[in-house]
Amino acid sequence: MSLPSLRDTIQAHGLDAKKSLGQHFLLDPGICARIAALGGDLTGRSVVEIGPGPGGLTRALLDTPASRVDVVEIDERAWPLLDELADHYPDRLHVVRQDALKLDAATLAPAPRQIIANLPYNVATPLLVGWLRQAAEWERLSLMFQLEVAERICAAPGSSGYGRLGVLAQWCATCSVALRIPPQAFSPPPKVHSAVAVIIPHAEQPSPQLFRAMEQVTAAAFGQRRKMLRSSLKSIGGERLLEKAEIEPTRRAETLSVAEFARLAELNLASR
Ligand code: SAM
Repeated sequence: MSLPSLRDTIQAHGLDAKKSLGQHFLLDPGICARIAALGGDLTGRSVVEIGPGPGGLTRALLDTPASRVDVVEIDERAWPLLDELADHYPDRLHVVRQDALKLDAATLAPAPRQIIANLPYNVATPLLVGWLRQAAEWERLSLMFQLEVAERICAAPGSSGYGRLGVLAQWCATCSVALRIPPQAFSPPPKVHSAVAVIIPHAEQPSPQLFRAMEQVTAAAFGQRRKMLRSSLKSIGGERLLEKAEIEPTRRAETLSVAEFARLAELNLASR
């Protein structure tokens, strides 16, 4: 039996978009297929999708050769329609009824695994930071954010978007903005433009302790981004760290390269 259209599915299940859950649905199969294709050849891969909603992107993921697709959805109104979709793909589509913020997504499926998702924008940044903390678990992340956030993830030092998120992401991964999507592509259209960032983790990853040390350095440095580093890093012994890292204490956070932040994080960890 063929699947009903996404619009019919939404209507049949009363899945009116809820703002509180960041619901903006993609109903165009062509756009969903282009997002799914950002995962590259998915043969033998597990794919995790956060927030499948009515399942447009899920259907596109199921059209790839991925060995399994695990979808994590918090909205109970979507669960029955996802179960119906799973009936069409026995043993390949797994529906996880949970808050993605409370879940270790890497435990869902065997490696090699990827995340491909049109994220709920209200929780997209904490979700990404959580996955970066365990970046070795992921082969690739292809994630839709609001455009400004995707640009911040990929921003170069000295640019206005460069900040904590960009340093963390680029320290752990190679990041690029792969696809820009206008508001009209969604139902209902969001107020902002969107983009998919492709994030490919490096082979070597920092230890959890070093990651925490980097989070501390970047939070302090960009928390007061207009101040000189000797002042913004004071709470973590800034003058001494900067001297050891051979970084001028009068510089500001946005001028430091990711490699310079990495040196500060290592010294911060060593000084504990
Ligand atoms: N993937 C669908 C699409 O592209 O049409 C829907 C994307 S919509 C932007 C975000 C989805 O994430 C919604 O289905 C929403 O219910 C779900 N969601 C919101 N917060 C969530 C959370 N904390 N955990 C899991 N899913 C969540």
